[in-house]
Amino acid sequence: MAAKHIRNVAMIAHVDHGKTTLVDCMLYQSGMFRSEQLDSLAGGRLGLVMDSNPLERERGITILAKNCSIYYTPSANNGDGGQPYKINIIDTPGHADFGGEVERVLQMADAAVLLVDAFEGPMPQTRFVLKKALEAGLRMLVVVNKVDREDARAHQVVNEIFDLFVALGADDHTLDFPVIFASARDGWASDDPDKPSDNITPLLDAIVKYVPAPSAALGEPLGIRVTSLDYSDYVGRIAVGKISSGSVSRAQQVAVMGRDGGLTNQRVVQVFEFEGLGRKEVETVSAGDICAIAGLDPVNIGDTVTCAENPRRLASVIIDEPTLHMTFRVNDGPFAGKEGRFVTSRQIGERLERELRTNVALHVSPGRTPEEFNVSGRGLMHLGILLENMRREGYELCVGRPKVIFHEVDGHQHEPIELLVITCPLDNQSAVMSLIGTRRAEMVKLENVTGASGYVHMEFEVPARGLIGLSGRMLTATQGNAIMHHSFLKYDCLRGPIPHRQTGVMIASHTGTVTTYALSALANRGAFFVDPVEAVYEGQIVGEHCMESDIVVNVVKAKQLTNTRAANKDQAAKIRPKRDMSLEASLEYIQDNELLEVTPGSLRMRKRILNETDRKRFARTAV
Ligand code: GDP
Repeated sequence: MAAKHIRNVAMIAHVDHGKTTLVDCMLYQSGMFRSEQLDSLAGGRLGLVMDSNPLERERGITILAKNCSIYYTPSANNGDGGQPYKINIIDTPGHADFGGEVERVLQMADAAVLLVDAFEGPMPQTRFVLKKALEAGLRMLVVVNKVDREDARAHQVVNEIFDLFVALGADDHTLDFPVIFASARDGWASDDPDKPSDNITPLLDAIVKYVPAPSAALGEPLGIRVTSLDYSDYVGRIAVGKISSGSVSRAQQVAVMGRDGGLTNQRVVQVFEFEGLGRKEVETVSAGDICAIAGLDPVNIGDTVTCAENPRRLASVIIDEPTLHMTFRVNDGPFAGKEGRFVTSRQIGERLERELRTNVALHVSPGRTPEEFNVSGRGLMHLGILLENMRREGYELCVGRPKVIFHEVDGHQHEPIELLVITCPLDNQSAVMSLIGTRRAEMVKLENVTGASGYVHMEFEVPARGLIGLSGRMLTATQGNAIMHHSFLKYDCLRGPIPHRQTGVMIASHTGTVTTYALSALANRGAFFVDPVEAVYEGQIVGEHCMESDIVVNVVKAKQLTNTRAANKDQAAKIRPKRDMSLEASLEYIQDNELLEVTPGSLRMRKRILNETDRKRFARTAV
């Protein structure tokens, strides 16, 4: 297809603003698949086609940026009527932890659709990705979604988006963005929020009209910048990128130029273009379109695939540096190997190696011992997702406390600073402020939320260190009323010490099965992370102590049963339900001398040194 009939458009949005629903709707209404195919793809649930990884569906986030495409023929009275257009839709992860990926995939786009909820207005993730899109020089098209909501405030939201563009330094041309109002859920788009239509044609027309055709030098030698990688067991690496010049065909001889300038001559085995949600093998793909190429190896993100006779390198892509690191090590706890299928350091090493093929923001280096790996990533979520995927695949491992990565600039230590945005009811504001106060946060904005009375919106610049452990505390302090988001802002001077966890923990003294009797006897010592009949081991963290110091407790102690009446009484004893700790909450919780054991069925926090006497001896030698 000629470049003038191609539109490459990125979708950017804050999580839950309806990106998946809108893309599904575009696919559906353009007839890219029938509804039963959609049903089977989305596990029977309409509206979740783009998020195809099970973890993504569960968390409602897009982790891996994906492409899909539709064909659209504008109506005859719309200028170029009759000619079909191919619209490549490039999905972008909305979370700052995937910043490197956002930047790269945006390079495939010529414009971006910024999708904003008609009630919530622009949110931190919108801001973060929009900033990247503006830096990439993309033309913007704004879609205000969910205008069907009763509390929608569509026009106000447009003004807020305009203010955000101004705050991010958009030029006059970009500020003149077209706006489309939509209800993705109900499948319509319109120029006027008060005049619903019955399809999303107005949005597709706007894309054809406002998104520039890709600049494509057809007559020139081949140039493709590899922006993402895929992997298949059958064909190996699959390189994905937009063709900026020339064309690429099956069995073509090409040169692959590394980011460091190294050159290898290779042969393309298969060429694909994107169609609907899948890839279609074709003979040739030409400049302007996005293609996937199988058969190249070595090939990496940021490489240029170019003509073998006249190789030329395209400007490389920026890959964000990791801000957080932690150690992954073999699970050496007493319950090791009970649940997982892959437990050895070789297996963990190979899995990490495999992850590195497609996850460029991840770094892995050998740890202090052969059983250990230092893994760095963009943030807690980035690493948390990797761990969650590994445990679902049957891996077992232990991980240490996440730590931020410092940089040295002109002899001074710099640390990552994040923009933290909190929206909460006015009543909770003081609780939030006292929590943030100890974390070296600087308030940069405070305002009442328009449209939602009784809510305040606060923005802070806070060291990434200060965020570790914050979300759990925030939920407790505000009874779950505060909504909190953060995104990476900059590296800046070190902000001074931040107190970490202020309470001690309760540590199991014996291996065995937790009893109701023991838990009820210890009830006034704090909150437990375990329930009766759970198996625990010596050194495992079984609860949070109500004091600053750690204590060792026997949670497996059974009551001496002298008669039946006593046994029944024990069963009736009342204990509070355990405090459930998610993977990320546990990662935030643990201290330096603690580990999190991650297995397919369990998450257990433990002391690095399990035996109490050994711990004491170690503590004495460390002083
Ligand atoms: P994503 O995280 O941006 O991909 O958001 P989703 O597409 O998963 O949508 C998040 C939630 O918003 C879902 O419960 C959708 O049903 C809902 N939603 C999406 N579009 C609309 C809309 O136009 N109106 C309303 N009322 N809800 C919508």
